[in-house]
Amino acid sequence: MINTLDKLNTLATVKENYPLSKLTSFKIGGPAKYLIEVEDIGNLPGIFSILKDNDIDYYILGGGANVLASDEGFNGAIIKIKNSQWLIADENDDEVLIKVDSGLSWDDFVAITVDKNWWGVENMSYIPGSVGGAVAVSAGAYGQQVSDFITKAYVYNIIESKFEEFTIEMCDFKYRSSFFTEAGEHKYIILSVEIRLKKGSEPSINYPDVIKYFADKEIDKPTLTEIREALHFIRFNKLPDWNEVGTAGSFFKNIYLSTGDMKGFMDKIDNNFGAEYRQEAELMCKKFTDSYGCKIPTGFVLDKLLNLKGKTMGGAKVYEKQALVIINDNNATAKDVLMLVSYIKQQVRSKTGVQLTEEVRYIGF
Ligand SMILES: Cc1cc2nc3c(=O)[nH]c(=O)nc-3n(C[C@H](O)[C@H](O)[C@H](O)COP(=O)(O)OP(=O)(O)OC[C@H]3O[C@@H](n4cnc5c(N)ncnc54)[C@H](O)[C@@H]3O)c2cc1C
Repeated sequence: MINTLDKLNTLATVKENYPLSKLTSFKIGGPAKYLIEVEDIGNLPGIFSILKDNDIDYYILGGGANVLASDEGFNGAIIKIKNSQWLIADENDDEVLIKVDSGLSWDDFVAITVDKNWWGVENMSYIPGSVGGAVAVSAGAYGQQVSDFITKAYVYNIIESKFEEFTIEMCDFKYRSSFFTEAGEHKYIILSVEIRLKKGSEPSINYPDVIKYFADKEIDKPTLTEIREALHFIRFNKLPDWNEVGTAGSFFKNIYLSTGDMKGFMDKIDNNFGAEYRQEAELMCKKFTDSYGCKIPTGFVLDKLLNLKGKTMGGAKVYEKQALVIINDNNATAKDVLMLVSYIKQQVRSKTGVQLTEEVRYIGF
């Protein structure tokens, strides 16, 4: 009689008891019962049929750069799609439409676009993880969002066992979330996407760090390569190198205040921290208002108001250079991270009235 593992092995590469600490940028997490690496997406119906018949839970993982895995691990199958091709689907004198596999590293994709002189995603250089993960979580940086360039997604519908095409509307992109992390979570796998980029454009330089970098270098109109170099310099100065230090980047989402919540928040800032900080918060609100509402950078609350840089719980620590980032400083467990997260959320709630939301997703809790 053929057992489950043997059956799965005919359709994908399967590893047993695979440490999640090796699959996540946090470098934390116990074993996953199975790691299933899928090279041939045509085998997805067969793989999910076996998982269903054997009542095996599953989790779709990209590069693991936006997740925290439990110390106990995950009693199920981690599914990783191992495709990494790209091609030009269409082009004219002004634009290019690229079809890119979800398993390709996001930054390898950005490097290709910079090399080809295609404009649009250059400010998102050096975001760790896969193309699929960047689309699922609606990643963004320095004024550019992945969702601004997607025109279509090719997906596998796990529940109905069929391959489908999604329009941009169906992807339902929001700030750091999408249909794939909300209503469609655990139901769909992004297999590839179409991305439209420009063959020429003005640099999109609106963030103080980037403006200063080019002002210092006296560069008026940087090339794509120069922008990518700038982002390397800026990001590696203020974020940990995740190849060396465990982290999932920003742990929390930024705070968006509705008009109704604004007054209560500002009054609390005034009462707990003084009029000077209220003024600063009001200025930020004006400066950073976008389609999601008035943005208060969570880093401002954690750093300037609550002074949390360097705060440690067990091996988990608030990064000294950026308070929004939690690092695995000294063999942290997921429990250490959760204790620190809970402390931060409680401090923010009691001093500002805001309930922080995690940007990082949890596996196996
Ligand atoms: C040092 C550092 C800096 C960072 N900087 C930024 C930044 O500037 N901007 C930013 O937005 N993020 C940033 N991040 C977070 C992270 O890099 C992004 O969220 C990234 O896009 C996650 O991609 P991933 O492939 O690693 O996703 P994973 O962490 O593997 O998964 C994240 C979510 O997406 C889902 N998912 C993944 N792949 C698929 C798929 N193929 N189909 C369906 N669902 C899928 C997962 O189920 C999970 O819910 C940073 C992280 C680190 C460590």
